[in-house]
Amino acid sequence: MARRRLLYQLYPSYLIITLASLVGVGWFSARSAERFYLDRVASDLEARAQTFCDLLGSDWTPKKADAVAPISQAVSRASGVRLSLVMPDAQLLDASGRRPIEPESPANPPEVAAALRGQSAVSTRFVPGFNQRVMFFALPMARAGQVIAVVHASQPIGYVDRAMAQIELQMVLVGLVIGLLGTGISWWVSRRISRPVDAMRHGAEKFARGELGYKLLVPEIEELAGLAEALNQMASQLEERFRTIVQQSNEQKAVVGSMIEGVLAVDNQERIISLNKSTCELLGIDELHAQGRSLQEVIRNADLRRFVGRVLTANEPFDDDVVLHGIPEGVLQARGTPLHDAWGRGIGAVVVLNDVTEFRRLEHIRRDFVANVSHELKTPITSIQGFVETLLDGASKNPEDTERFLTIVAKQADRLNSIIEDLLSLCKIEQGEDSGEIVLAAAVVSEVLNAAVHDCQRRADEREIRVQMACDDQIIAYVNAPLLEQAVINLLDNAIHYSEPGREVQVLGSQSAREVTITVADQGCGISAEHLPRIFERFYRVDKARSRKLGGTGLGLSIVKHIIQAHGGRVTVKSTLGVGSTFTIHLPRPSESRQSPAVDARSA
Ligand code: ADP
Repeated sequence: MARRRLLYQLYPSYLIITLASLVGVGWFSARSAERFYLDRVASDLEARAQTFCDLLGSDWTPKKADAVAPISQAVSRASGVRLSLVMPDAQLLDASGRRPIEPESPANPPEVAAALRGQSAVSTRFVPGFNQRVMFFALPMARAGQVIAVVHASQPIGYVDRAMAQIELQMVLVGLVIGLLGTGISWWVSRRISRPVDAMRHGAEKFARGELGYKLLVPEIEELAGLAEALNQMASQLEERFRTIVQQSNEQKAVVGSMIEGVLAVDNQERIISLNKSTCELLGIDELHAQGRSLQEVIRNADLRRFVGRVLTANEPFDDDVVLHGIPEGVLQARGTPLHDAWGRGIGAVVVLNDVTEFRRLEHIRRDFVANVSHELKTPITSIQGFVETLLDGASKNPEDTERFLTIVAKQADRLNSIIEDLLSLCKIEQGEDSGEIVLAAAVVSEVLNAAVHDCQRRADEREIRVQMACDDQIIAYVNAPLLEQAVINLLDNAIHYSEPGREVQVLGSQSAREVTITVADQGCGISAEHLPRIFERFYRVDKARSRKLGGTGLGLSIVKHIIQAHGGRVTVKSTLGVGSTFTIHLPRPSESRQSPAVDARSA
């Protein structure tokens, strides 16, 4: 249905009502006035006819025809009414001396016919001879119950018609003025009603566009004022609710966005409906590019896509590991939960991704460590067990064998002791490192190096290794002196063990603006490049047999690494196979950060 403006619905209605009322009232008034005039003329005619009748007297008979003319002329002169007597045989007995009004009138006009039947009657008709309407009144004259004649009175009423025409003209003019006024007032009233409705529509459109802060003007019309107030109230409530929803949504986004875990939500068609920054970082995808796109387009990892597919068809939450085939390889622990609406229908799935690469690596290291420790401990124990059993089986009877076997048992026991001591000190350092219990204090570096060299001197002499030490006495470092000494001893021990007799080992202390460095350089066998990244791992040995032969536990460098880590420093190594190795301890000067990586291994 075609829609029309309220103004164009109201205004024509008002106009029609106004004009119809005007025409109705005008017509009714004109008709009333005409009736009033005609009634008066009719009463006048009746009065004249009656007077004429009275003047003729009650004893008048048609035989006294001569008496009629003077009386009728007298009455007619006084009133202007034409009078005549009509006999039952339609004979016009006398007229009032004027020409008959209807010379060609029928013998018995309707009012005369009625009067002949004994009833006075009025009739109005247009008389062509007069060129106007004439009112007729017929009054029966009865004697002894017999109509003997009819008094026929008549008067032209053209003047009434003219008066009525004038009145009607005036009414039309007044009607036009009132009509014009009514038109104006109708327009004004219609505008008064439609304008606030228009303003409200305009405001409602603004609300629909989201401009909820807009306020509708409250019109003076009671009903519209109520409506405007209700709309304003609704808009402010909506604005409040929107604000709350936006705030909640922002809070949720902030919470999800700041989560370390990746959160990924998809709909039933595997289209991404939400994902956080961590997901993008973990999977290496662009957040803006991913929103609203299908999983296939965005996520390359087939394992994860399969996992999401399984979650969408599952009823219960479940989890699984997803391997990221990147460099380096990563492991994500994915927990998927199917999403349901209020009616329990599946609408998608949410997957929480947890980077467990480090956790899995540590787990792996722990398992390896346990296996390594067991293996390291088992070797000397098996050896001790074997020799003790041999002795018990009778070898003890031979003093030479007994001494040889007991020497081996003692050596293996020493080895066990060394491993356990190294493990304990590693454990202590790690605990101290974690709890921050390792106390650092300013120390003269040369004193620490001197003590370490002094400790190793005997072993160096045994292997005919010259140890050179050079360090400025002014160099101060912020260290735990016994632990740093232990680290330098471990490096020195290795340098001595892995160098051929007659070689030289240098221990140097120096400082720069940012750090204090301690270098232990040897001219030993060196380490090939592929081993360098792993030599700081626990129980890692380049040459197992040689290390064992030299009494190594495979924990020395690991202890060095943790000691230096506890100082906020790092250890680097440069080595060339067959030329020698240089281990450098980097200690931050007091003002420097203590967050640097602990190990940096390079092959020179
Ligand atoms: P170990 O007790 O076996 O010496 P470390 O942890 O101290 O254990 O050293 C790990 C491995 O690194 C050693 O087994 C050895 O192969 C190698 N290594 C350490 N220091 C040197 C060095 N100065 N020269 C050559 N190889 C070394």
